[in-house]
Amino acid sequence: MSDWIARMREAIPNGASVMCDWFAEQADNAVITTTDGRKFIDFAGGIGVLNTGHRHPKVTAAVAAQLDKFTHTAFQVVPYYSYIELAERINRLVPVSGKVKSQFFSSGAEAVENAVKIARSYTKRNGVIAFGGAFHGRTMMTLALTGKVLPYQADFGAMPAGVFHALYPSSTQHISVEDAIKSIKRIFKSDIAPQDVAAIILEPVQGEGGFNVAPPAFMQAVREICDEYGIVMIADEVQSGFARTGKLFAMEHYAVQPDIITMAKSLAGGFVLSGVSGKADIMDAPRKGGLGGTYAGNPLGVAAALAVLDVIEEEQLCARSQQLGERLTGFLKGLNAPEITEIRGLGSMIAVEFGDDEQPNAAFAAKVQQAAMAQNLLLLTCGAHGNVIRFLYPLTIEDDTFERALAILAESFTQARA
Ligand code: PLP
Repeated sequence: MSDWIARMREAIPNGASVMCDWFAEQADNAVITTTDGRKFIDFAGGIGVLNTGHRHPKVTAAVAAQLDKFTHTAFQVVPYYSYIELAERINRLVPVSGKVKSQFFSSGAEAVENAVKIARSYTKRNGVIAFGGAFHGRTMMTLALTGKVLPYQADFGAMPAGVFHALYPSSTQHISVEDAIKSIKRIFKSDIAPQDVAAIILEPVQGEGGFNVAPPAFMQAVREICDEYGIVMIADEVQSGFARTGKLFAMEHYAVQPDIITMAKSLAGGFVLSGVSGKADIMDAPRKGGLGGTYAGNPLGVAAALAVLDVIEEEQLCARSQQLGERLTGFLKGLNAPEITEIRGLGSMIAVEFGDDEQPNAAFAAKVQQAAMAQNLLLLTCGAHGNVIRFLYPLTIEDDTFERALAILAESFTQARA
């Protein structure tokens, strides 16, 4: 295996940082088997892609069936029924009222890029307001929207213009709802007139930023600002979507609705697909041919997504998400760990923070992660300082595997203190 690590270092550049020093051979539901036969419980889910688990039999069967028909035509050249079926289904499911339309792309970043293009085209305005701690992707526009300089933006030169960052509420960063709203109004005073702002984009639960949950009063206030100035409200649900928070979309937890929703990751259960859904009049703004992409709405991803929606429904994964999240939260509280400052989240989008913005304890998060890794449990960190551990296990995880992971987690906390 060390030979492969040497080959990886030789063949792949520095910018592609890799977390594990082992390699995947096989993966089933919540377990990844390594090339040397170890079995890891996967609490990373390919960064939130596997709410329906690795290789869900219904998802792989749907993709296999599609493989026997055709794998690519470019939807904008030769269309296929399944894309339309998926759009119709998603249109019915997204928490956006009135007539809704959807278009599919490949990556989450591509979905966000297109959401911004749609909002600009609709409003004929340029500015976009995003939030500190946000993560929207690694393409130039989404990088500009991302509210974390290291390691994402640094060294990559000037970002696209017209993007401004407001504060996102967070108790451990000592940012109240009032502070956050004031920061938007400050942007209107010092950076850009609200009449020049095309969109405000926010994650209802910040993913990379540390699973900070938008308080309802904040969401309400953002909606009101958007309504007052004719700004398009975009909810980026790339990480929070598809039952992760106990609802199909995290925005269903709120009394207000966005105009546009971006989605990707668990939409297609391990296959490549993203989407943008929104109010039909907004979605229809770009001229014919203004949106698209060679692989956008690839038939394999679309087949997977239709199966994912069936699985979420049939296996009641929203309820399962809620149940697992409650078990995890109770377990974390029961650890009574003095290092924990906050346990937060919605449904199964749960994270635990060590220290706070002033005294982040990233070292403890890293030690827990390493101790878990040594015991075959895969965990991810996140947050402004890397001092948060987030849990992104498949919602299809078996009870005994989940309990085994919690036992490893408890032991990892003990070892992290040694
Ligand atoms: N938006 C959010 C909220 C995300 O969490 C991510 C990825 O982590 C993205 C956008 C970018 O998605 P992708 O990596 O598929 O481009």
